[in-house]
Amino acid sequence: MSISARWFALPEPAHSAHTSNNSSTPVVVVGAGLAGAHCAYELAQRNIKVLLIDAGQSIANGASGNDAGIVKPYVTRDPSHINQFYQSAFNFLLHRFEQYPALAQAAQFNQCGVLQLVEHAYPTNANYESCTAADASKLAGINLTSHAIHFANAGWLNPASLCNALLVHKNIDVQLGVNVKNVEKINSRWCLSIVNINATTGSQRATEQLECDTLILANGEQLNRFSQTSDLALTAARGQTNRFAVPGKQKLKKVINGKHYVIPTQNSVVVGASFIRDDETKQLTDADHDHNVQGALSLVPELSFTQIATSGFCATRATTLDRLPIVGPVPDFARYRSDYALIKNGLPQERFPLPSYHRGLYAIGGFGSRGIVSAPYCANLLVDYLHPSPLQEASEMGSDDSHLSQWSSLLHPARFVIRELKRATN
Ligand SMILES: Cc1cc2nc3c(=O)[nH]c(=O)nc-3n(C[C@H](O)[C@H](O)[C@H](O)COP(=O)(O)OP(=O)(O)OC[C@H]3O[C@@H](n4cnc5c(N)ncnc54)[C@H](O)[C@@H]3O)c2cc1C
Repeated sequence: MSISARWFALPEPAHSAHTSNNSSTPVVVVGAGLAGAHCAYELAQRNIKVLLIDAGQSIANGASGNDAGIVKPYVTRDPSHINQFYQSAFNFLLHRFEQYPALAQAAQFNQCGVLQLVEHAYPTNANYESCTAADASKLAGINLTSHAIHFANAGWLNPASLCNALLVHKNIDVQLGVNVKNVEKINSRWCLSIVNINATTGSQRATEQLECDTLILANGEQLNRFSQTSDLALTAARGQTNRFAVPGKQKLKKVINGKHYVIPTQNSVVVGASFIRDDETKQLTDADHDHNVQGALSLVPELSFTQIATSGFCATRATTLDRLPIVGPVPDFARYRSDYALIKNGLPQERFPLPSYHRGLYAIGGFGSRGIVSAPYCANLLVDYLHPSPLQEASEMGSDDSHLSQWSSLLHPARFVIRELKRATN
């Protein structure tokens, strides 16, 4: 994708390419889920100190707390930028796991292959193979009734274990039970009002202040709860997975994906996931359990499993309208609304000012149901933008490969406001 419109131009990052992190304070990352853990890891690998804080008492306290989720690129039938984005994200994750096999192992990454069931046959391409129901059944080891596309190098992993593994790093300090109430710019620095929550009693200590120059908000469904981020268009969607025991030998060899998914492990299957928009409740429900049972049977009618779950997981995803994540510097939304109010008139781009941002404040989230694949790549895009490595700068001379600005029109935090302004009537 090429560099996009003026209103998506990215500012020079607060810590520019050549300064590394000279500041005495570490970069603060809020949220110890996949987004925050990958950001912290990417920064730490570039020798930048990170303080990662999370309101929960454990790492992966939110949507990333699942113990099995699918790793596969999202695809549309026809070529699209969205396909390109998810394929790049998938390739990035595979590459990271090749570079750091200990991470893949800690995440229990299992490249058993994924069969995505489709109504109509897809043409085979470089990323997947198109299968008839008979071919798919052979691959799966069990009878399937639809056409499928086979992602041979896809599979599943344990997101919670991956987050834990990413955060074991000498440059990362993790502080749990720290709830960020609000953030404010004071004397050119970011000042976080934080409350420590006691792990045993749940009681809260008096509000304290924490200061930093660079602040990355990666706090999942709560990403738009700060005054600077309240215009980020996010909707909560509750989801539940269940694990069911498999009597006898496991026959299923592939992850099966359609409206639901079934992940085979040695003695069980993990089935997910329900998707209930505008629901932030996090208790397991019988209704979602039964929905998962039905979902598994509709995908794999001959699957044999005890239809009472042995365990379950439930959390809230942060979803966006276009099902793409939000990654980048946090826009000054009030300025966006005034500076681009006339965008609907179709004036030439040069007539508009360059966009305004909250300097030093970044957002990453809105991963919906695809964060396992997309969060690592997005974290790398964001961190490369903040602290480009000499290697990356050299490669940028020749191409725009893997730069955040390359994906601006898909991922920019202000894209929904721009779309709204374009649609506005006088
Ligand atoms: C049931 C279910 C099944 C899923 N299955 C898959 C799958 O198979 N494949 C796939 O790719 N994706 C899947 N997903 C989606 C994926 O898990 C998410 O996209 C991803 O985990 C989001 O990561 P995150 O870091 O943005 O958010 P989270 O993991 O929710 O992390 C946000 C963190 O921020 C912390 N926090 C929030 N507010 C504050 C605050 N004010 N102060 C301090 N800390 C704060 C929270 O405690 C939390 O730990 C699934 C999601 C669910 C719920």
